[in-house]
Amino acid sequence: MEKISIIVPCYNEEESLPLFYQEMEKVRENDFHDVEMEYIFVDDGSKDSTLKEIKKLKEHDSKVKYISFSRNFGKESAMLAGLESSSGDYVTLMDADLQDPPSLLRKMYDIIKNEDYDCVGTRRVTRKGEPPIRSFFARIFYKLINKMSDVEMVDGARDYRLMTRQMVDAIISMREYNRYSKGIFSFVGFKTKWLEYENIQRVAGETKWSFWKLFKYAIEGITAFSTVPLILSSIIGLLFCLISFLLIVIIIIKTLMYGDPTSGWPSLVCIIFLVSGVQLFSLGIIGQYLSKTYLEVKRRQKYIVKETNVNKK
Ligand code: UDP
Ligand code: MG
Repeated sequence: MEKISIIVPCYNEEESLPLFYQEMEKVRENDFHDVEMEYIFVDDGSKDSTLKEIKKLKEHDSKVKYISFSRNFGKESAMLAGLESSSGDYVTLMDADLQDPPSLLRKMYDIIKNEDYDCVGTRRVTRKGEPPIRSFFARIFYKLINKMSDVEMVDGARDYRLMTRQMVDAIISMREYNRYSKGIFSFVGFKTKWLEYENIQRVAGETKWSFWKLFKYAIEGITAFSTVPLILSSIIGLLFCLISFLLIVIIIIKTLMYGDPTSGWPSLVCIIFLVSGVQLFSLGIIGQYLSKTYLEVKRRQKYIVKETNVNKK
């Protein structure tokens, strides 16, 4: 029998977790008679009793595996840990808050089995229930990054997807420290089919994403999968050189023809502000890449496991 690994990153999900398990078990019992399953719950350093809830599930269900981190390492690390510990022929990533409907899984499985796909992903076509300003910036972000990066980022794509073992192994083999999954998923390639659905709000608890966190995540995505900002700052620099060269010529000619009445202090100040602003901005861009390189070079662990019942291969 084939096996599906269900990876669930959990950070402070004590309320959602039992609901998720119930729902998923219902789907498994109804639709998956012909498939074996394993759960891998990754407790990402939760501060509430998430780990206790997971252990409760484990007590009466041998399909439940868990990994508990020593602190909060973020969803990217939690997903990686889950993927590395999975043993299924197919692997799916699901949020604990039921925003990723388990009822879609059978359809995804059928597609991956019967059609010529390596991955079935999901994307939400609406952003219902989200603050409008967030949706607005999200849309701008996707426009920008798709212009700047060779790797395609699908607007509204969720991490919820079913993948073949081959694709999972490819993802695991990418050892970068700054992991931006949306980019990594499309970087590794493989044929992906997208299922669309309307946004579903989480069943309990609240989202861990503040606006500031999302902003930093967006920068992460851009630096991880595009070097266009660096090219852009070079181009702006070149442009400024050209403009100043023209201005010099104009000023020399003007002085020769009309003499040199001392004036132009305000314009000078404006120019100094503008140019130093552009310089700082460019430095900032370089700094972003440098800091990512710095973190990459350190080769720190992406997560530290405190407790688990998974036997590492
Ligand atoms: N999550 C995690 N570590 C974190 C933040 C979130 O493992 O540092 C998990 C969280 O428990 C949930 C999933 O990632 O299962 C998605 O988080 P959330 O629902 O807050 O994000 P949203 O759906 O609002 O994008
Ligand atoms: Mg959610």
